[in-house]
Amino acid sequence: MPSEEPGASAPLQRITEQTQLFQDEAAQVEDREGWQRLRVRWLGRKQGIVRSLLGQLKDIPAADKRDFGQAVNQLKVLVEERLGGLDAELTEGERQHAQRSAAVDVTLPGRQPVLGSVHPVNLVTQKIVEIFSGLGYSVAEGPEVEDDYHNFEALNFPPDHPARDTQDTFFLEDGRLLRTHTSPVQIRTMLARKPPIRILCPGRVYRHDNDLRHSPMFHQVEGLAVAEGITMGHLKGTLEAFIQQLFTADTGVRLRPSYFPFTEPSAEVDITCPFCSGEGCQVCSKTGWMEILGAGMVDPRVLSGCGIDPKIYSGFAFGLGIDRVAMIRYGIPNIRLLFDNDERLLRQVKI
Ligand SMILES: [Zn+2]
Repeated sequence: MPSEEPGASAPLQRITEQTQLFQDEAAQVEDREGWQRLRVRWLGRKQGIVRSLLGQLKDIPAADKRDFGQAVNQLKVLVEERLGGLDAELTEGERQHAQRSAAVDVTLPGRQPVLGSVHPVNLVTQKIVEIFSGLGYSVAEGPEVEDDYHNFEALNFPPDHPARDTQDTFFLEDGRLLRTHTSPVQIRTMLARKPPIRILCPGRVYRHDNDLRHSPMFHQVEGLAVAEGITMGHLKGTLEAFIQQLFTADTGVRLRPSYFPFTEPSAEVDITCPFCSGEGCQVCSKTGWMEILGAGMVDPRVLSGCGIDPKIYSGFAFGLGIDRVAMIRYGIPNIRLLFDNDERLLRQVKI
């Protein structure tokens, strides 16, 4: 007799060893990848260990065939059951992990929502409205699509005035136009109401103009005061009070004679340069002054055209570009930056 262990043929002994090997390997599976490797190694259709053991069956001596076949089948069932058990364990572990990562940790700090900011043009508009509210003015608004009468004729623009030219004005096909200034709101108010009138008209206006300092759409604010006994002195005092609140209390104000069709006399209003406080710098072309407003006493013809008796009432009007003030206040070099909707600009400009 060849030296063999009693009770166990060499082929059966092999299966016992393989079973032990499988148990050891299964005990080391930690994750889905390890499980997958184990499954392929033992149950794989081509190179799987169980399959190759079955393949050896034909070489087993006839006396051992039956026992060997049974043993391989037992091993196969054991491998399948163990893999099934491991699979269930892994699935449960994965489920718990997913649950833990989905759970809300209430001790974590909240996510800061990104706060928007008010557009520089609106900031300046709000500030101007606030200042004039303090002086007893109320806000008046009107349409952006206007007719020639409210935009030009009632404001004393002669029929051949260059501002009516298509070079400046956007005309619509029906003969109406996009208002070139907010002055038509003054006309509409004077036609509708009796003095005393104190209004502020902020809004969009349109002109053919496009360069670093001009945009075809821009924002203007005009003011109008009509009552008995209003003088140029009231105009200057009002503008000084306004500008010193808008900029700084030591901002100087200077009126220079000018011409507008709807005011007589008319003035351009300069302020001391906010960048150099009047010393002279590049922004103000070394003059120390900046032109910021147009103003004047309402032309008596404009008053009477609106049914207001110029022998009893007088008034002043002024207007300024809101975008220009925003550019000065926030140091914005190009007017188009105001309308590009670039969030970086909006984030920089805060009250
Ligand atoms: Zn300057």
